[in-house]
Amino acid sequence: LKGFPYKKALVVGLAKSGFAAADLLHTSGIDVKVNDLNADSTGEQAVKLAAAGIPLITGSHPFELLEDREIVIKNPGIPYENEMVMEALRRNIPVITEVELVTYLHDGPVIGITGSNGKTTTTTLVHRMLEEDRRNVHVAGNIGEVACEVARRTGTEDTMVIELSSFQLLGIDKLRLHTAVWLNIFDSHLDYHKTRDNYIEAKSRIMKNQMEEDSFIFNNDDSIVSTFREKSVAAAVPFTLEENGRGASADENHVYFDGEIVADRKKIVLVGEHNLQNCLAAVAACKSAGVTNEAIQAVLYSFQGVEHRLQYVEEKKERYFYNDSKATNIRATRYALEAFENPVILLAGGLDRGNSFDGLAPYLKNVKHLVVFGETSAKLAEVAGQLDIPCTPVDSMEEAVARAYRNSKENDVILLSPACASWDQYRTFEERGNKFVEAVGNL
Ligand code: ADP
Repeated sequence: LKGFPYKKALVVGLAKSGFAAADLLHTSGIDVKVNDLNADSTGEQAVKLAAAGIPLITGSHPFELLEDREIVIKNPGIPYENEMVMEALRRNIPVITEVELVTYLHDGPVIGITGSNGKTTTTTLVHRMLEEDRRNVHVAGNIGEVACEVARRTGTEDTMVIELSSFQLLGIDKLRLHTAVWLNIFDSHLDYHKTRDNYIEAKSRIMKNQMEEDSFIFNNDDSIVSTFREKSVAAAVPFTLEENGRGASADENHVYFDGEIVADRKKIVLVGEHNLQNCLAAVAACKSAGVTNEAIQAVLYSFQGVEHRLQYVEEKKERYFYNDSKATNIRATRYALEAFENPVILLAGGLDRGNSFDGLAPYLKNVKHLVVFGETSAKLAEVAGQLDIPCTPVDSMEEAVARAYRNSKENDVILLSPACASWDQYRTFEERGNKFVEAVGNL
């Protein structure tokens, strides 16, 4: 921890990131205590803390703990309204999230990616493009390992790619992103005006410590994000689906960067306009970091998508299978349906949250057959009936895939995009998606 100015720290919230922060601080010779309301003192992390001699205080938030503390590291999931966090701020003790500690550990470039949606996909694309370009690169943040843990083992020239949620960004102070990517901001994530401004403010912190030689990659088609162009000290690099000007853009045939052809659009494996935006964001970030077109192409032409997010599974007898199990609401399924021009056989259904599926009807134009399951099958069958789309109710994923296949022809897309949560039949959407992939494999 080079230049970390604090000697006594309090970690609030154990979990994965709290443990990583406590372990790092302790190893760096800093006096650290951990406070967590609900941590199980016999759990694995608690046992490890005890073995290292790090005090863990559970069950309450005693304010005395703050008395000699100089810094609080809070878990991103703990709100600022938490009594301990509020008390720390009242006493003018700075409150950060663990990702801020990267500042004191990692010397090489940092690429940070935020947005309401598309973070994991874009982070993965950027990570793979840098790897393909033979850089030493490490991925961290929401997507996998805790950032401050990864930063402990990076070399001086290595690049870190970090997926950043707004909760993490609220807790940064000095962290500098050499490349900051801001994908989008959706109103659906903003419940009322106060949080709306807070949410935008949190996301915009991604550009907080940027310098002139850095890059700020922003979505020029997003009416809120694009206004931050003027506020950028770093070189502002747009990406857009609209025009072929500066930054990354695309037309029917090509992907461009600053007007130069970077890749053949038709060879991109990812489908959907939203994914094209993610690809363009990744292209803008990687071109700004000097990655070659060959490396960018290698990834665009092979990456099948993050698991369960409109992920291309395989082709069988000219039927194309996609796993979009993460689509647990109508909006996500709509994105998936808009991605295809070929006829689609849609597998949908799941937990009944009491909502209607009428909102899906305008997007079912290409759907030639609906296979439905779970608590919502009758509701979905009703929508299919209104549109004269053949519909088959089934009990299992095996049966769903078999029935879809039996009703398919060459060039059809067979898509699992349930528009519902999975908990009526599965533990998680991942389990549901895995069952689908398995059933496709067994065909
Ligand atoms: P995040 O990590 O931000 O949750 P993901 O890459 O995991 O984002 O994608 C989650 C879902 O969000 C996708 O299945 C898709 O429905 C939607 N999505 C992804 N990228 C975008 C985008 N650029 N714009 C709008 N929606 C998107």
